[in-house]
Order: sequence, then structure tokens, then C-alpha cells
Amino acid sequence: MFEYTPSPTLLAKRIILVTGAGDGIGRAAAKTFAAHGATVILLGRTTRKLETIYDEIEQAGYPQAAIYPMNLEGASPNDYEVLANTLENEFGQLDGLLHNASVLGTLTPLEHYDIKLWYQVMQVNLNAPFLLTQTCLKLFKHAPDASLIFTSSSVGRKGRAYWGAYSVSKFAIEGMMQIFADELENDSTIRVNSINPGATRTSMRATAYPGEDPMTLPPPEAIMPLYLYLMGPDSHEVNGQTLNAQD
Ligand code: NAP
Repeated sequence: MFEYTPSPTLLAKRIILVTGAGDGIGRAAAKTFAAHGATVILLGRTTRKLETIYDEIEQAGYPQAAIYPMNLEGASPNDYEVLANTLENEFGQLDGLLHNASVLGTLTPLEHYDIKLWYQVMQVNLNAPFLLTQTCLKLFKHAPDASLIFTSSSVGRKGRAYWGAYSVSKFAIEGMMQIFADELENDSTIRVNSINPGATRTSMRATAYPGEDPMTLPPPEAIMPLYLYLMGPDSHEVNGQTLNAQD
């Protein structure tokens, strides 16, 4: 596991947007960022789940969160403009963005991959992070120390049979991360990196590996040290890196 001991107020006064905040790793990240002082914007497609996290953050006495229900599959470019403008009006800046939401699609040979599903996976896993980053970039430029984190996977670094659109989308995420990092190289106030969470106890993992005992895997809370390190000021010099939460 990546080792890092954060200060309790590591993310104080930071505004951080988390996609797919309603479940799994995104849910743990949102609560962990809030526990370290951040104001977290919870973006996801199931409002009920977002409300539960919102309440848990409130009950714990962390900074009040915000909810932004949005289905990344159906969202239009204009919806991203509306989101960026809303965030600008409400918060003025963004200090962090965790691109976490994604869908698995299906595990099947490329030869037989359903075309409609291919487009759906690419829309959520690749096009959405592109549109969100592009429209929100102006908000990061208003922040003194902004961190963008893309979420990859082992199959985004080495191709593996049957992982189809999911694997291809994660390769593309790594490429997009590197391009944004390179383009922003001379802007010392924005860094862009990617995390491979590694096998983690979530519903996506259980769907991909139905025969596996989930209790043999770490829960999302256990992989948070790397997320905190990359989101906070200690990673200020780290840019364009592909990192593993469980190394
Ligand atoms: P998860 O439990 O399935 O959670 C995914 C989250 O993304 C859910 O909150 C889901 O919302 C949201 N989401 C999915 N489609 C969406 C859409 N169209 N619009 C908005 N939100 C959407 O998955 P996870 O395991 O936590 O995965 C988190 C990230 O880690 C993903 O990028 C995944 O590829 C990556 N990853 C995970 C593992 C692992 O072992 N778990 C390994 C490598 C990489 P709902 O709750 O409403 O469905």
C-alpha cells in the first residue's frame, strides 16, 4: 500500500469535485477529503446515494458538501458548461478534481463487443472526463495549487483479453492525463496525474470477478493514502505520473 501520513487539516479550504461520489472508491474519497477539511462537490447519477454521503459528511461535522446530480452518459457539452459556470458562481475556483466515475461494460472478445455498449463506455469513461476537464480548466487556473487526478486501471497499462472498451478507455485516460500534464507543464499551479487503485472491494470489482471473495480485497478506505497525497500540497511537484494506490 502507498504509505503517507497526512495532516488532519491537509485539505482545509480546498474545493474538490469528485465524480462517481455515490459509491465505491468515489464515496470513500469524498468522505476522506471532507474529513481532511475539504469542501467536496459530490457528482454522480444516483441522487439518493449522493444525499446519503452528504448527510454522513454533515453528521461527522466536516465542511458542508454540495450535491451535483449528473448522468455522465447522457450529458451534453452544454451540461458541462452549466456545471462549470455553476461552480464558478458558487465557489469561484476548484482546487481538486477526482475523475473516478466509470462503467465496466462487458467482458467479452472485441470481435463480439456490442457497438452500443462500446459507445456508452467511451462516453462515461473517456468523453466525460475530457469534457469536464476542458470546461473546468478555467476554475483550476483561479486556484493556487490545483490537482487533477484521473483514474486508470491495470488494464489501462497493459491490454488483457476480454476487457474491451473498459481497457481501451483506460489506456486513453492515461494518454489524456499525459497530454494535459505536458500542456500544463509550465503552469506550476496545476498538476495532473493518474491513479491505478488496484483490486479494491467494490461492486464493480465484484461484477468483474464474481467468483472472488470480496473480503480478500482491501476496502476503498484502505487505498486513500495516495489519493490524499495527490490531492494535497505535498505532491506539488508531481506532474504527469502514473501511480499505484497499492504499491
Ligand atoms: P463502482 O463501485 O462501480 O462505483 C462507480 C461510481 O461511478 C458509482 O458511484 C456510479 O454511480 C458512478 N457512475 C457510473 N456511471 C455513471 C454515470 N453515467 N454518471 C455518473 N456517475 C456514474 O466502481 P469502483 O470500483 O469504485 O471504481 C471507481 C474507479 O476506480 C473507476 O474509475 C474504476 O474503473 C477504477 N478501478 C476500480 C478498481 C476496483 O478494483 N474496484 C480497479 C481498478 C480501477 P452509481 O452508484 O449511481 O451507479
